Amino acid sequence: MNIKQVTVYASSSRALDPVYYDAARRLGKTLADARLDIIFGGGGVGLMGAVADAALEAGGEVHGIIPDFLADIEHGHKNLTSMDVVSDMRIRKERLLERGQAVVTLPGGCGTFEELFEAMTMKRLGQYLGPIVLVNTNGYYERCVDFLEHSVSERFMSRLHADMWQVVDQPEDVLDALANAPEWRAEFLSFSSVAAEHD
Ligand code: AMP
Repeated sequence: MNIKQVTVYASSSRALDPVYYDAARRLGKTLADARLDIIFGGGGVGLMGAVADAALEAGGEVHGIIPDFLADIEHGHKNLTSMDVVSDMRIRKERLLERGQAVVTLPGGCGTFEELFEAMTMKRLGQYLGPIVLVNTNGYYERCVDFLEHSVSERFMSRLHADMWQVVDQPEDVLDALANAPEWRAEFLSFSSVAAEHD
């Protein structure tokens, strides 16, 4: 898969341990140095702001997609390569996924979870085929990955579905994870609902 744009999901929180902002900045620089453009939620705060600032400083392109009600309350980043202001969160989520050929998820709260799980669901249904990489800064996603594995072992998902996501501890490892993500094809829709023979 030819990846030019990477969709990044990330926290809007301004109250995190510095280790998270550091990892977000390193991700921004890593993507920019690799000449990969960032598509993200357009926020100027939290890990979103950190990843965008670092990528811009490293000469990268960063494109935001923000709903007007969030742009209005000054959470929109002011210096992006482009900012697409849309009418609601659903359109924003759809565009975020449409415009990237890969997803990278930094730590986040319910907004990030929703985006991540939508990407996984669309992939399970063969509607989105790109890699999905979780950046496990500070072990943040361990419980989430454990729960996903639990879902597989309880057969809510097939073992084949565990190929949908990759987990890396360091933001610099994202590039290898993107390059080596198992191929995913639209026909995999055929096992979106788990059948007994897969387990
Ligand atoms: P959360 O992890 O709950 O902070 O939500 C962050 C994710 O939801 C981001 O990837 C954004 O796409 C979206 N989001 C939530 N809050 C904001 C905000 N204030 N400004 C821009 N995007 C936001």
